[in-house]
Amino acid sequence: MLIGGIEAGGTKMVCAVGDENGNIKDRVSFPTRQPKETFEDMIGYFRQWDIRALGIGCFGPLDLNRQSKTYGYITKTPKKGWENCNIVGTFRDAFGIPVGFDTDVNGAVLGEVTWGAAKGLENAIYITIGTGVGVGVYLNGALLHGLVHPEAGHIMLSRHPEDSYEGKCPFHKNCVEGLAAGPAIEARWGKKGAELADRDEVWELEAYYIAQAIMDYILVYSPQKIILWGGVMHQEKLFAMVRREVKRLLNGYVSHEMILESIDDYIVPPALGEDPGIKGAIRLGVLA
Ligand code: ADP
Ligand code: ZN
Repeated sequence: MLIGGIEAGGTKMVCAVGDENGNIKDRVSFPTRQPKETFEDMIGYFRQWDIRALGIGCFGPLDLNRQSKTYGYITKTPKKGWENCNIVGTFRDAFGIPVGFDTDVNGAVLGEVTWGAAKGLENAIYITIGTGVGVGVYLNGALLHGLVHPEAGHIMLSRHPEDSYEGKCPFHKNCVEGLAAGPAIEARWGKKGAELADRDEVWELEAYYIAQAIMDYILVYSPQKIILWGGVMHQEKLFAMVRREVKRLLNGYVSHEMILESIDDYIVPPALGEDPGIKGAIRLGVLA
């Protein structure tokens, strides 16, 4: 049986078809233009296949409340033209098949708990440090929604005493996204992260902020596995630095062997490589 998946992002839409075990048969990517043109591209692609369900992991914020009149919509996005956009309804009308829908990061954590680094676990989080910071949360065997959905990339951080950069987030300044996402690195140091690879102070500060956020996620969500990725984490030395800082900040308070002895196996990159989002989208389709 073929299932469609969409990893819907602000710059590109990755579309794929695969089977219910997450084996991808084909994939394409379309630039995110205005909704009308972008939907035409995606619908045209999926028409080539006999898909029985579709799953979408989408940039947000989203309405995920099935009782709401605007369930399946992107709600209040700064992305021009996409505000109040009916994503689920558009694909349901086009194909008449079940459509699963969640945030991009919830899709990614779902991919990793189904087939990746958190396989078989009931509690895991997926953190992406990229253009923004997003956190997908899977707790007690289900994706976490709530009033809206978690926006844990915007929790406030204590500024490092030697960091004079005010913070990039237009809403909060010194939240995780404001201090640690790729654009914050670029604004603080005057160069893109990839060009700062040999500057240790850049990555020490970065690890200090990412670790503060992870400490709070550990305390609040109590995940059994933390999957950490996004463009900034391509600086792979950050993993060791973040793990060390998390241990230092927790200071022995959460006394579990995963943290005290096996942190290398607790805070990890995705096992699905660059695919947790698109495979998670396919899984959202399977579950729809
Ligand atoms: P998005 O969040 O838009 O989906 P990415 O996860 O690829 O995209 O993140 C893009 C961000 O990651 C950019 O701000 C970019 O500067 C940063 N980035 C990409 N590669 C690297 C790298 N090797 N080292 C540090 N930062 C990087
Ligand atoms: Zn913020």
